[in-house]
Amino acid sequence: MERDRRPVIECVSLLRVFESATGRVQAVRGVDLTIESGRSVAVVGPSGSGKSSLLRMIGGLDEPTAGDVTIDGVNLVRLSRPARRKMRARLLAHVHQRPTDNLLGHLTALDQVVRVAQRRGVGIDAAREMLDGLGLADRADHLPDQLSGGEQQRLAFARGAVGAPAVIIADEPTAELDTASTDRVLDAIERLSSDGITVLVATHDHRVLARVDEVVTLRDGSIASVTESGTELAVIDHAGRIQLPPDVREHFPDRRARISWDVGRRTFTVEEP
Ligand code: ADP
Ligand code: MG
Repeated sequence: MERDRRPVIECVSLLRVFESATGRVQAVRGVDLTIESGRSVAVVGPSGSGKSSLLRMIGGLDEPTAGDVTIDGVNLVRLSRPARRKMRARLLAHVHQRPTDNLLGHLTALDQVVRVAQRRGVGIDAAREMLDGLGLADRADHLPDQLSGGEQQRLAFARGAVGAPAVIIADEPTAELDTASTDRVLDAIERLSSDGITVLVATHDHRVLARVDEVVTLRDGSIASVTESGTELAVIDHAGRIQLPPDVREHFPDRRARISWDVGRRTFTVEEP
């Protein structure tokens, strides 16, 4: 399929501050991120680095404290809640980290997927195909509590992916999966992205990292680096800031550096003053 490389996800200066009993937490601080259609992107970073918070804002489930999230050209931040809900139903699938948060206890596996399929204008055949692709064909008539954790997680993914939403967002989709199940989810991600669907996953899983187009590393709520085709790149945000890794930063205890650049040779140097 011919891919049109248009930006589907655009985050600009995205900020999310949580107020809690112990004070304020800046879960996401100034994230600029553009993802084109058909890309598969993994967001990695230590626990608490802001992965889930970022994904929830991109998925329209949470509102940023400041900044913009644009999906397929529409700024989610400017939409009313009902308009955002409509847009989410049409374009976005969000697979929550806990499989049971995605599933209705009283519906069989097939019915869970069919329900979403119909909302997206496809039918039972598409639902069966999706279950089959994720190795769940023989679980179609089971209720969620008759499925293993891994099967529930694959079912949650099937439900999100059926009927080709423009963007699939999945929070740690392989966390409870063995190797064979993980391979099935990764095969599904590859199929979806070759069909032009944009896939964004938060993960700690090295098996996932090896099979996505791009890896975005978060540190303390900011993008520390982006890895494409095995090359790790620093990111320059819209204000011109670059984040240094902690092991480099510790060599600059005074937090001052002399910087020089050669625009012609496209080089840039940071030195101790
Ligand atoms: P990750 O998914 O990378 O583990 P999160 O986005 O869940 O990170 O969390 C980032 C930071 O924001 C953490 O310090 C977390 O405690 C805090 N946080 C997340 N959600 C909330 C919330 N609803 N209320 C208060 N703090 C939150
Ligand atoms: Mg998380």
